[in-house]
Amino acid sequence: MPKAQTLIDSERELAQWTALSYPPLCEPVSDEEPGALRCHACGHHCLIRPGKQGICKVRFNVSGTLRVPFGYVATTQLDPIEKKPFFHVTPGAKALSFGMLGCDFHCGYCQNWDISQALRDPAVSARPKPTDPQTLVKIAKEQGASMLTSTYNEPLITAEWSRHVFQTARAAGLKTSFVSNGNATPEALEHILPWLDCYKIDLKTFQDKGYRELGGQLKHVLWSIKEIHAHGTWLEIVSLLIPGFNDSDNELRQMAEFLASVSPDIPWHVTAFHEDYKMHGMGNTPAQTLLRAAHLGRQAGLRYVYAGNLPGSVDDFENTRCPDCQTVLVERVGYHVKKPLLKNGACPACSKKIPGIWT
Ligand code: SF4
Repeated sequence: MPKAQTLIDSERELAQWTALSYPPLCEPVSDEEPGALRCHACGHHCLIRPGKQGICKVRFNVSGTLRVPFGYVATTQLDPIEKKPFFHVTPGAKALSFGMLGCDFHCGYCQNWDISQALRDPAVSARPKPTDPQTLVKIAKEQGASMLTSTYNEPLITAEWSRHVFQTARAAGLKTSFVSNGNATPEALEHILPWLDCYKIDLKTFQDKGYRELGGQLKHVLWSIKEIHAHGTWLEIVSLLIPGFNDSDNELRQMAEFLASVSPDIPWHVTAFHEDYKMHGMGNTPAQTLLRAAHLGRQAGLRYVYAGNLPGSVDDFENTRCPDCQTVLVERVGYHVKKPLLKNGACPACSKKIPGIWT
């Protein structure tokens, strides 16, 4: 069977690109089973027996020690920081993004499935490329990036590597960020938040049933949003609106009201889906749906709501306005920043401080 052979080959190949994990992200549970480990890197908290792997398939138990992804990237790319998307972090700056392989979810519409579904989908062709933190920082500096971002696959499942990279990045004056599904744990946040400036979470639906279809649980994501905000790490939320999956008025209102209850200052990005990977037949998201969601966000009390992926078609919802006097503070078309008018993080007209990281 050629497909099975491809998967086995990839697993062997990936096993070379690992390091040992350490507390708090794993702990022995040998009182339950000799050599067994509990992984705490994501909300699945997998019990992994010797010779086995976790749900993400990239963390392995080898004779009672947990081997985790390390020392490689599957891809790197220079992006506008707006593409992450962070709209309240140094507008117009650039981020060097890197991703590894694997994910703890299996979303049928994943736009990065070619790396995130490694070891789960025989069609994945991405392979590890060796690197180290110094090289990533050097590339970032040479290309004019001010941030290193762990993205494309789920960064929580490779948190040891991200922390290792971010320690060097911080020392070199770079900002650091996660683009994550938010399936975090207390142990993972304790491990990574001290080294993170910004965290983006996908709030994919407000129905637990929907999350379970994707491989997660709603309660873990809501917990992460509250914890990361309470910690003080800058947080922005994205909801990719998929026709028929998560775009009813009721569900959008629930998402917005939850976010506003955590803080009305959390930016909420509602973005347009296009058919991809295994999710076809529902059509792409129309601009009207984004506008409807954006208005529901405002009604719920959110001060900063953005509509993405359909540049030029979403009225004023690409721009940042002062919530008090309505002055346009950052004018955007898509990922392009036309006019950043903030003065020291405040509205130049009425001096209201705007939440975010502006320098
Ligand atoms: S990262 Fe999550 S899915 Fe992977 S082994 Fe750990 S708990 Fe399981």
